[in-house]
Amino acid sequence: MSDSTAATQTQAIATNADWQARKEAAIARGEGNLAAIYIERAKNAEMWDVEGKRYIDFGTGIAVCNTGHSHPRVVAAVKEQIERFSHTCVMVTPYDSAVRLAERLNERAPGQSPKKSMFVTTGAEAVENAIKIARAHTRRRAVIAFNGGYHGRTNFTLGLTGKNAPYKTLFGPFPADIYRLPFPIPYHGVSISESLEALKALFVCDITPEEVAAIIIEPVQGEGGFYSAPNEFLHALREICDEHGIVLIADEIQTGFARTGRFFCMEHSGVEPDLMTVAKGMAGGYPIAAVVGKAEIMDAPLPGGLGGTYAGSPVGCAAALAVMDVIEDEGLVDRANHIGTIFAKRLGALKAAYPDQIGEVRADRGAMLAMEFVDDGDPSRPNAELPAKILSLAYERGLVLLKCGVRGNVIRFLPALTIEDEILEEGLDILESVVAASV
Ligand code: PMP
Repeated sequence: MSDSTAATQTQAIATNADWQARKEAAIARGEGNLAAIYIERAKNAEMWDVEGKRYIDFGTGIAVCNTGHSHPRVVAAVKEQIERFSHTCVMVTPYDSAVRLAERLNERAPGQSPKKSMFVTTGAEAVENAIKIARAHTRRRAVIAFNGGYHGRTNFTLGLTGKNAPYKTLFGPFPADIYRLPFPIPYHGVSISESLEALKALFVCDITPEEVAAIIIEPVQGEGGFYSAPNEFLHALREICDEHGIVLIADEIQTGFARTGRFFCMEHSGVEPDLMTVAKGMAGGYPIAAVVGKAEIMDAPLPGGLGGTYAGSPVGCAAALAVMDVIEDEGLVDRANHIGTIFAKRLGALKAAYPDQIGEVRADRGAMLAMEFVDDGDPSRPNAELPAKILSLAYERGLVLLKCGVRGNVIRFLPALTIEDEILEEGLDILESVVAASV
């Protein structure tokens, strides 16, 4: 097809259904989409599709647009950057914004130890690099992760990821030397001591602690179902890592940048991780990610051992610096807690109205919220059909929601931290009506 024919078709076809048909013909089916809603423009917490229909966005592109869609200060910073230059490669002829961003992240990262950062492009790449750094530092091979954990879609990060379908299906073999533990989830009867006992057993049965390079944990499991790691558990892991010289990695890719009512989620526990991976909310939609960690660990790889063509792109750095300004200037850490309080009240009322269907509401980490659906109020009987039904009705009624959970029975809420109170309430009204119509 010639370019001009393609352009004519673009103009003629305007419906979501048409675009979905073209998408299915043109993009590999493995790259699925949750909703056949083709976005034409978005502003703060609202989006409009190609048919002109408006949506309230409770998903922020999976915890990316914490500062809302196209925040004017982020847009201005990006425009200013691309007017000057878009790419020189930070490994060839660097630029000051990468240095300034690293300084800022180092200063913001939890704990008092001197920090250093390194940049990459995606969350998975940040996790890959955190493991490389931990291995270089410890000269050890094994890595411990958790059931229900999610760390990305590259081969190593899939190996770490503790949710099989659809992420891992057909993609093995995965790397060796990865071990997994149960994540403590009281609602599912997994206690802190059970997880710690499993770690002890692992050290006896499978691998000695002296062979373990790192333990990687999400302070709130994201894709796995929005379960927060108990503070006591994080402290216990910190002690075990200190005792055995294991690098503790906090994957803050979904939890970072004010989302949980702290700048970084680890601040809830007061535990300083050795390394931290960040991405998503970091730059409000521009692909940049980082590993931030204790300087002596970060410096273990040799010069040239880390990097990438687009690592720390100047556009990503400019956006990230603007995002950090916006979080500070607009008090978004407090806003996350404010949003969490409003949600907690409304979700709590829903749970009270539908106790058989809504097993648990999770609202203990700012604006990272969830409802878990079950049958007959029984945690061991997940209901994945109801959330699917709720999602499709919500899309019809103009509210974008996301699911998660190893059993697919959790609806998660990740609104922009800049969402206006009226729009937040309007979205919650839609949610309430959709749940009522679906149960
Ligand atoms: N870690 C966590 C905790 C995540 O939530 C995600 C993305 N959902 C990733 C890693 C992977 O990030 P990316 O998709 O940018 O590679």
